[in-house]
Parts: sequence; structure tokens; C-alpha cells
Amino acid sequence: MNKELPRQARVVIIGGGVVGCSIAYHLTKLGWTDVVLLERKQLTCGTTWHAAGLVGQLRATMNLTRLAQYTTGLYENLEAETGLATGFMQRGSIGLALHAERMEELKRGASMAKTFGLEVEIVGPNEIKRYWPLVNTDDVVGGVFLPKDGQCNPTDTTQALARGARMGGAQIFENVKVTRVLTKGRRAVGVATEQGDIAAEYVVNCGGMWGREIGHTVGVNTPLHACEHFYIVTEPIAELSRDLPVMRVPDECAYYKEDAGKLLLGAFEPGSKPWGMDGIPEDFCFDELPEDVEHFAPVLEAAMKRLPVLETAGIRTFFNGPESFTPDNAYLLGAAPELENFFVACGFNSIGIQSAGGAGKVLSEWIVEGHPPMDLWDVDVRRMMPFQGNRQYLRERVSETLGLLYDMHWPYRQYETARGARKSILHDRLAARGACFGTVAGWERANWFAPDGVEPKYEYSYGRQNWFDYAKAEHMAVRGNVGLFDMSSFAKFLVQGRDAEAALQAICANDVGVAPGRVVYTQWLNERGGIEADLTVTRLAEDRYQVTTAAAAAVRDMDWLRRHISDDAHVFVTDITSGQAVLPVMGPNSRALLQKVTDADLSLEGFPFATAQEIEIGYAKVLAQRITYVGELGWELYIPTEFAPDVFDRIVAAGEAFDLKLCGLHVLDSCRIEKAFRHFGHDITDEDTPIEAGLAFACAFDKAVPFIGRDALLRQKEAGLPAKRMLQFKLEDPAPLLYHNEPVYKDGVIVGYTSSGNYGHFLGGAIGMGYVRCEGGVTQDWVASGGWEIEVANERIPASASLRPMYDPRAQRVKV
Ligand SMILES: Cc1cc2nc3c(=O)[nH]c(=O)nc-3n(C[C@H](O)[C@H](O)[C@H](O)COP(=O)(O)OP(=O)(O)OC[C@H]3O[C@@H](n4cnc5c(N)ncnc54)[C@H](O)[C@@H]3O)c2cc1C
Repeated sequence: MNKELPRQARVVIIGGGVVGCSIAYHLTKLGWTDVVLLERKQLTCGTTWHAAGLVGQLRATMNLTRLAQYTTGLYENLEAETGLATGFMQRGSIGLALHAERMEELKRGASMAKTFGLEVEIVGPNEIKRYWPLVNTDDVVGGVFLPKDGQCNPTDTTQALARGARMGGAQIFENVKVTRVLTKGRRAVGVATEQGDIAAEYVVNCGGMWGREIGHTVGVNTPLHACEHFYIVTEPIAELSRDLPVMRVPDECAYYKEDAGKLLLGAFEPGSKPWGMDGIPEDFCFDELPEDVEHFAPVLEAAMKRLPVLETAGIRTFFNGPESFTPDNAYLLGAAPELENFFVACGFNSIGIQSAGGAGKVLSEWIVEGHPPMDLWDVDVRRMMPFQGNRQYLRERVSETLGLLYDMHWPYRQYETARGARKSILHDRLAARGACFGTVAGWERANWFAPDGVEPKYEYSYGRQNWFDYAKAEHMAVRGNVGLFDMSSFAKFLVQGRDAEAALQAICANDVGVAPGRVVYTQWLNERGGIEADLTVTRLAEDRYQVTTAAAAAVRDMDWLRRHISDDAHVFVTDITSGQAVLPVMGPNSRALLQKVTDADLSLEGFPFATAQEIEIGYAKVLAQRITYVGELGWELYIPTEFAPDVFDRIVAAGEAFDLKLCGLHVLDSCRIEKAFRHFGHDITDEDTPIEAGLAFACAFDKAVPFIGRDALLRQKEAGLPAKRMLQFKLEDPAPLLYHNEPVYKDGVIVGYTSSGNYGHFLGGAIGMGYVRCEGGVTQDWVASGGWEIEVANERIPASASLRPMYDPRAQRVKV
């Protein structure tokens, strides 16, 4: 310690790992020089110092890949900028596939990478052998080579970021532990340390595997848990050339890096070992965990066959170090919903070195500008539900997530651990009828139903999975007859009070100043016109509304409401999710079926589209809303939870005469994509406006209370047709499948990518939605002039494209 701690700073960063240092660096780049970083021991002493230093670029989604790509560029130039060596080398990386499905996965990733110009080559066994002469390719199907992938020395890179931050004016203090985050009301106002307090406008939690505890002390949910992560380093191997790219063999859970003539072999193995269940030891500093040769043995055995030179190479180091993992393998970034001016950047799931550059950049911009600079929903801390901070849940889940990094990333893959946390009251009834459950936001939800005699279990594949035909039957029942869903997982908020209408009018783009009993589909927009939420608002009374939104958006949307309702407004928001089960009854026969269980008038005149009424079913009073997410006549029934089993039984009993089909979430998705209904997080995000998304019809530009984002939308409208526009697609060949993130070509040139994909059982082929770009504006003629193709696993498939929904473009089926 050579300096005294300042008593105040604009930003205090807790934690001097690669992530904290990157944020300090980037804040100074944005001109915020009054930045203090506090490290409890020494820089890098947590997880950063022992990382293997792989800096890959290809991630699961577009924006995360963009961020990793940025990191590579940053590290490339950091040494020249700061004068400190980073060990960064761009030798590329090669991923091997040992079976056809893995090859398809690699090819699909390569296709995605093309969308934004990431260099990637598909390679065969011979080329692999040229890149890595010592590797046994006898059983290798092929691979992908990314020439711009790199590797670095994590400690040196962190020190270089720290120096860059200091050069920009930041102050970095080692051996200063933050003992408490200081708060005033709902706002972070500084930190307490053993050397005194520092008042701050913003506090950033970059505490790595300590991050959960740091958050916990101020009520900020930061679900992460440490896991043991292993690698070995061999003695020098004479035959090893010094310019080898990093090699990944995910089917053997292994990665290889040549390091000064030695070989580093690391593992992402199934059944990993959670660590630090009772907290991280107070004195942890450059610590290693005990080796576990038995645990590592299967990886080593496979590696010795893959690289026979390992059979004779001595092992110099057996390394075991802890790293923090999250319930979904994505990091935790952004503004904490529980505490204003408190930001989170932790839980980096073994990719913190390659993520730090991009994450540091966007979090700094988020702090300075007050909003995320791009769609970051994949990593936004608001995607986490409060229960996910539960330690038992985390411990069980992270034993699976580490291994999933290299396991197959199957479409529709479901977690196997920490299941059954959150169940609809109808769960057992659905299970008894063959439901195969998946999980979102902790909820167990029926994704599809297995017929009698079939085990409700996924058999994963990139092709048609075992449930394809069962989903088709459900889909066709919704289109031609009637289907019953359980959507109890919807998040529901009651917004009440004298000022409820005024508050919601400002927040909602659509007009919610409607008569009680009306249901309004609306977006919530930010000041830039970007979509923050997509939901329905039902007016229950003059001073009472119900907001219904997706399960995964529960925390985010509640946070948005809280931030945009002033403290002195007479408005009270209550989360009533657990109080209501939701049963959508959908399809052309839904009216006839429901009319058997209620005497309410369900005719078009008696119960028009987009209205809600309290009706009686059996002994229950049910809020019936005439609205649909599948594009058919139907009602969503909101039932007090304890009455729902009886209502369900009555509908199912009456449904026998109609051949009612129980339907799962996969069919909700396939039906909504056929109808081109957008899905928040995929098709619409905070960087897409309703004009680009084709949702301007739901914006009430002329209502008396101007809504947030209106001016930005008006400016966009005045500027003419937008260059970016959402289209719907269908592959002409009915065989290939779309999932999302596939590049879209027009006349041989990539013009966009898919944001959603599924199978249109009614339309007869894979369907998707996605944004395309055309400078000068996307016009009907341009779309209709054809030349459309979508790339699936490196192969371009002819497609049709449409601005209007391909299924029932005039919504005639809904309003009958
Ligand atoms: C074996 C292994 C290999 C890996 N290989 C790679 C790789 O090849 N590529 C890659 O991208 N990633 C890799 N990783 C992951 C990477 O190391 C981490 O994701 C990254 O280091 C996380 O950085 P961080 O800054 O979030 O955490 P940390 O480096 O742990 O930094 C957090 C810091 O916060 C400090 N702190 C905590 N509490 C307080 C407090 N109260 N006050 C002050 N300071 C506090 C800690 O002392 C610590 O220094 C690997 C990890 C392991 C374990």
C-alpha cells in the first residue's frame, strides 16, 4: 500500500481479476477517470491467475460471439498500448468432431459465424493432421478451424489491463477488502473497507466466486457457485511444434494448448465437483485445490489415445483450481434489479479471460450511458429468478453445467439436475397424461406429450427428434380442433392504485386507457424505441390492471415497472404469479368445448376478441381472456390456483367429446412462429424497435400521454422505411430444420439471420423469423423479388420470405 484510499470515487469496482481490471480499463476509455478498484489480496489471486488462457471467439449466440471477437482485437493491441506483454498469440483453434451430429453442430456454428464475418473453415481429417501432426485422426469425422482465435497469459493480460486503467486515471488498491456495500434506501452509495469507507456513485461486483456472497449482503441475487476445474501440464515434449493452434475435442471433454514446448490438457467433464459449499476460505490467495487423479483419469485415458505422445510424456503439473459457474452457463452482467447503481459482472463459467474484454466494454458503456449498448439478455442478471440463489439448487446444477460446456448443445436440450423446483399445481395431472417436461425460470413445463405406451423422454438429435410426430399431432389439433395448454408459468402482476392508468400509459406503447374488460397487447419501450418487454395488459377496473408476461421475463419486467413508476405515484405492483394457474384452450372448437363447462356467453358478440370477463366453471370464478399466442380462436383461463385442478378435470372431461389434445410448449412455439408472433428475447430485444419488428400497429402514437420511446419512433418513422426489418421464412425443402441464428441470404449475399426457428406442421416445412437489412429500406417488392436462401449447417437451402404472416395473414381465424 503506497497510497491512501480516497474517501470518494465515481465508481468503485470490487475485485481485481481480469473482469474487474477490464471494467476499470474501459471506464477510463470512456472518460470516467475517477475509478477505484479494490482487491482484497493481489490482482489475479482468485481464479484469473491459473486460467489456461484460451481466447476463443465462437459463442452460442450472435452478440456473445461479437463480444468475444472484440476481446481478441483488444488483446492483440494491448501490449503495444500499455507496454506490458500479454503473451497473446493468434495461432487459431481447431475443434474436432468424432461423430456426424457433432460435425453438424460445428457446421451450424460455422454458419452462424459467417453472419458477422468471423473467419472459420470447415476442415477434414487430413487438414486436421496438417495443423496437428501428432493427433490420431482415425475416428475423426472433421472439424472447424478458426484462424483468429488466440491464447494469452491471463495474469499478464490482467496486469496490462490494470496498467491501461491506471494510465487512464484509475486507482487500483491491493490488500483492501470490501467488507460491506453501503446503501441508502434502494441505492448503493459506496463501500466499507478495513481502511475506511469510500462513497461512490456506482459500485460494481466483480468478485468472481465471492460474488454471490457480496451480492447476498445487500439483497442482490447473484446465483453462482464454485466448481473444481482441472488441467495437467506435461514435461516438455520434443516432438511438439511451437505454432500449434489450440485444439478442442469436445467429444472427449478435452482441450489442448501447446505452452513453451509443454502440453496443457484441460477438461470439461460430466459430473463435475462443486466446491466452497460453506463459503470461500478467507485467506484464499493463489491457492490450488487438491488434485483428484481418479476424477481426471477418463479424460487422460482418452487423451492418450488421441495424442499417443502423451503415453510417454511425464506430467509436471496436475492443476485443480476453482471457478464460478451459473445455473445456465452464461455470465451475470448488468444493473442489479434489487439495488440501484449496483452493477454485477461475475460468474464467468470458465470463459472469463475470453469474455473479459467484451464484457468490460459493454458493462462500462452500460454504467456511463445508463443502458446496455446492445442486446445482452443472454447474460443479463435479471434473467435469474430469486430462488436460483439457493445454495442447494446451485450446488446440484453446477455439477452439470461445467460438463455441458463441451457436451452436445442439442436443440431443446434440458437440464437434468436441480429439477422439480417449481411446479404448476397441474403438474401431476400432466405427468399422468404423458407430459415430457422441460424447464424455464425453474418452472417444470410440459414441452410435449407422449402417447400411451411411449416413455416421455427426449432422444436428442439435430434432425427430427423422437417427439416430432407427437408435436405434429398437437399442432394440427390446435389448427383444426382444440388443444389445452398449461401456462401457469406466466408471470402476472397486479398494478393497482389511483395513478395506475397514468403510470401504465407512459410505460406502454399501446393505449391502455381502455374500458375495464379490455385486453391490450403492448410493448414497453426504452427511450431509444427499443423493445424492453412484450406482454398483455388487462384492465380489470378503473384502478386495477393485470400484466401478463413470459416466465423468463418476470424479474426484468418487474424491474422495469419499478424503475418507471415514480415513488410518489399512487400505484402498487404485486406479483401474483403463484396465485393463478393459466389454462389456454385454443383452436376452432375451443368455443364449443368451453361452452360445455360454462354458461357464460362465449359468442363473438358476447365475448369479443381482446376482452376479458369473469366466468364460472364448476365452483370457480375464472378470469377468461380472449387472446391467443397460437393464432386461433381461444381463451386463456386465469384460475385461482387451488381451484385449477377441478377446472382442469372438468375441461378434460368435456373435452373427450371433442377429442381435446393436451399440448406442450414446443407446439405453442411452432404455432406462434407460423403465425409470425414475435417472442421477446429472440425476435424482439432492446435493440429492435416496433417499426423494425413489424409491431408499429401496437403503438398508440396519438394517445394523450406520450409513451416512453415515442419520440425515437417518430424520428425513425420520419426517416423513411427502416433498413432493418423482421421477415418470416419457410424452407422450400421440408427436410432441413431451423433452430435460430442461421444466416439468411438474398441473391447470394448474407442480409440477416434467423432469430427463431421451428417446424411449421401446418405450412409443411421449417419456419423461422429474422431480421434482414436493405439500405434504402426493406420494401414489399424487394422481399417478393425472391432469391432467398437460409444456410443450415453450411448448406444453403432455398426459402420463401414474407413481411406478413404466412399463416392466416388477415387474422380471420382469430376473430370469429
Ligand atoms: C483451471 C481453469 C482454467 C481456465 N481456463 C480459461 C481459459 O482458457 N479461457 C478463459 O477464457 N477462461 C478460463 N478460465 C476461467 C477464467 O479464469 C475466469 O472466468 C476468470 O478468471 C474470472 O475472472 P474474475 O475477474 O471474474 O474472477 P477472479 O479472477 O476470481 O477475480 C475476483 C477477484 O475479486 C477479489 N475479491 C473477492 N471479494 C472481494 C472483496 N470483498 N473485496 C475486494 N476484492 C475481492 C478476489 O480476491 C479476486 O481476485 C479458467 C478457469 C480455471 C479454473
